[in-house]
Amino acid sequence: MAFFEIRNLLVRHKTFEGIKTVLDIDNITLEKGETYGVVGESGQGKTVLALTILKLLACPPGIIERGEILLDGENLLKKSFTQMQRQIRGRKIAMIFQDPMSCLNPVFTVGDQMRDVLHQNRGMNRKQAHEEAIRLLGEVKLADAENMLLKYPHQLSGGQRQRVIIALALACGAEFLIADEPTRNLDVTIQASILKLLKELQSKFGITVLFIANNLSLVSAFCDRVGILYNGQIIEQGKTADIIEQPQQEYTQVLVNAVRMTAKTPDVFENDEVILKVDQLKKYFNINDELKKQRNLTLKAVDGVSFELKKGEVLGIVGESGCGKSTLVNTILNLFEPTSGSVLFEGKDVFAAGQKDNTAIKKNVQIVFQDPYWSLNPRWLVKEIIAEPIDVYEHLGEQERLTRVYKLLEMVGLPADAAFKYPHEFSGGERQRIAIARSLASNPKLVVLDEPTSSIDVFSQAQILGLIKDLKKQFNLTNILISHDLGVVHEMANKIAVMYLGKIVEFGPADRIFNSPQHPYTRALFNSIPKLDSMGMENLVTLEGAIPSPINPPSGCAFHTRCANACEACSQTTPAPVWMGEDYYVSCLLYKQ
Ligand code: SF4
Repeated sequence: MAFFEIRNLLVRHKTFEGIKTVLDIDNITLEKGETYGVVGESGQGKTVLALTILKLLACPPGIIERGEILLDGENLLKKSFTQMQRQIRGRKIAMIFQDPMSCLNPVFTVGDQMRDVLHQNRGMNRKQAHEEAIRLLGEVKLADAENMLLKYPHQLSGGQRQRVIIALALACGAEFLIADEPTRNLDVTIQASILKLLKELQSKFGITVLFIANNLSLVSAFCDRVGILYNGQIIEQGKTADIIEQPQQEYTQVLVNAVRMTAKTPDVFENDEVILKVDQLKKYFNINDELKKQRNLTLKAVDGVSFELKKGEVLGIVGESGCGKSTLVNTILNLFEPTSGSVLFEGKDVFAAGQKDNTAIKKNVQIVFQDPYWSLNPRWLVKEIIAEPIDVYEHLGEQERLTRVYKLLEMVGLPADAAFKYPHEFSGGERQRIAIARSLASNPKLVVLDEPTSSIDVFSQAQILGLIKDLKKQFNLTNILISHDLGVVHEMANKIAVMYLGKIVEFGPADRIFNSPQHPYTRALFNSIPKLDSMGMENLVTLEGAIPSPINPPSGCAFHTRCANACEACSQTTPAPVWMGEDYYVSCLLYKQ
């Protein structure tokens, strides 16, 4: 008998349009200690599956029409809510949700929340629960556990919060763990360390894991077997390597292609005209730390960045969260006042431009923001949103204005009637198309794309990236692309800037850097991405330690506290850029000019 089994499960949902089938699964079987991945894009039923297993699905509107969910031979669907609460949830099945912030209570400390779980489920008194909480935080490798228990969730980084959630999941000794996209929204380096941690704990405690993901590369690293969920059905399942190497279904092939990095022919640029020149740009913020009672601190978000961009190029800026990517582009766009340095756009100083030149620069430089849910005014019709730049820079009559809006909608693959709808009537991918249409409305020359695909699923992502490429050719655009997804950068960029603590540590042609990264940080960043060609956790290299605070960065090379190649000089000498070619430099003491 299998440890966990789903048989003949049919779940429907009452909606305004009638009753819809959301899950129709013939069979999923997990042996003890096995890891099974369920993969599919948003809306295919992954989270409904997890909630159904835990009997947390709201019924109504959900209806579990038939089926069995067996854990160690017991049918969970026959259990009452109270039985599930007292015997199963937490004790036999634990769950890690995708957003650790929404799973932790923001008004209680980590210690309060952990002690409460241990008291409720294991009957421990305060002292016992406190000691057990310290032990559990040690298991998930959180340093300074005593201090960690005193902190509130907002005082922790994303990776630390997810470790606390994992500690809570372990608290009651569950043997079956449902991990629902546990590394979503985390940097690649933190993602790799969380996956490694989960794998270690799984083998230490013999836990069986149902791993839910929207991305096959994560599953390739973590899971023994995988099932592809499409429209609520498992359309294909088997050993992870077999599914990835020989996908049978068209949908699976799309999922595989979405994450497979293929070799690219380097783009050839005949145009030598420099459109953007950034020279020694710095952006410091003066801040007060009320908790530590420290005032007038200097946060060096961007610290002496220089590069040139030629017309038609796509620069990908990569690095962990907090490395200064977004501050850099916001300063280039003059949305933040620079501390020092200069930015020349088509030879004109962006910071010193008079009113007329400034308007011309703004018209020619546009931005597409990360989150299409927040970047569009929810009270405006799409036609008003797209026409806003047209109204600012050109003064067209109503009919001409509307014709332009229709044209822009057509370019981004949306029907004309979209003009008369509100943003909430569109999916994430469609909203991002609207944001792209708006960015093109003023006929810009440079478009900055700030994580344009991070909030949408892999299918829409592939379509949006294709659209951006087409529009780039059509409008002869130059792009700056910020992304923590190195696959996206590899697909789009011909130049790369790798940032660490406000500085560019490696800058050069994308094909050279992807084929043979030189800076130890770039290598660590690339090695922490799960790759389909080298499956398994053993090929996933983690970068130890958190990114240091930009308020008090380490002396010498700021990366020396995490660098595997660091020597004594690294903590004393700040590395200068070493030129490896005409437009390629690395800032590391391993290299000499
Ligand atoms: Fe590592 Fe030293 Fe190079 Fe910095 S300078 S990246 S610490 S080897």
